[in-house]
Amino acid sequence: MKISSAEFVISNSDVAKCPKEKLPEYAFIGRSNVGKSSLINMLTNRKNLAKTSGRPGKTQLINHFIINKKWFLVDLPGYGYARVSKSAKKVFQKFITSYFSKRTQLVNAFVLVDSRHEPQKIDVEFMLWLGENQIPFSIIFTKADKLSKNKLEVQIAEYKKKILEYWEEMPIYFITSSSSGQGKEELLAYIDNINKQ
Ligand code: GDP
Repeated sequence: MKISSAEFVISNSDVAKCPKEKLPEYAFIGRSNVGKSSLINMLTNRKNLAKTSGRPGKTQLINHFIINKKWFLVDLPGYGYARVSKSAKKVFQKFITSYFSKRTQLVNAFVLVDSRHEPQKIDVEFMLWLGENQIPFSIIFTKADKLSKNKLEVQIAEYKKKILEYWEEMPIYFITSSSSGQGKEELLAYIDNINKQ
């Protein structure tokens, strides 16, 4: 898929105020600093569509972008930032669970994980929650350029092992780098194929 237009639509903390259009919607979520903004900018060929965060955990909003006037890309707040207070975490949980349970337009959630890190409890728990709530999701391994090919394979194998403790099979996954553009075509083709169905 070629991205011919990518525009910011609205930011808000209330799922009821998200755009009313019944366009297919794809959400991107992950721990703060995982590389989500960089990935969104890479996918949409824009330098600053999603704000890369100097201060992780700051953007606590649901951000809608419309792509090719056909589908929404949704940038969700980064989770698991240590400096956020417990009460802020609770608000965050509510807000995210309400987005995922109420947003009927949502087609797929992309859960971003840093390919350098071991499987993190918070990510696995979040995936389990998505699974329990029948929300389709895929995994995006980010920052692949930071690892050698061998090390990357080891990391992915570890991740698979962890996931297979809970699921019968590994969900669809993508290996990406916002620096090199790795994974861009695959990810966009995946979305395009679903949109065509
Ligand atoms: P966010 O908080 O998840 O939106 O993360 P950002 O996109 O702001 O990225 C966090 C940091 O990781 C920044 O310093 C980025 O430059 C860096 N980064 C993000 N993606 C990549 C990548 O694919 N490769 C490399 N080498 N660095 C990356």
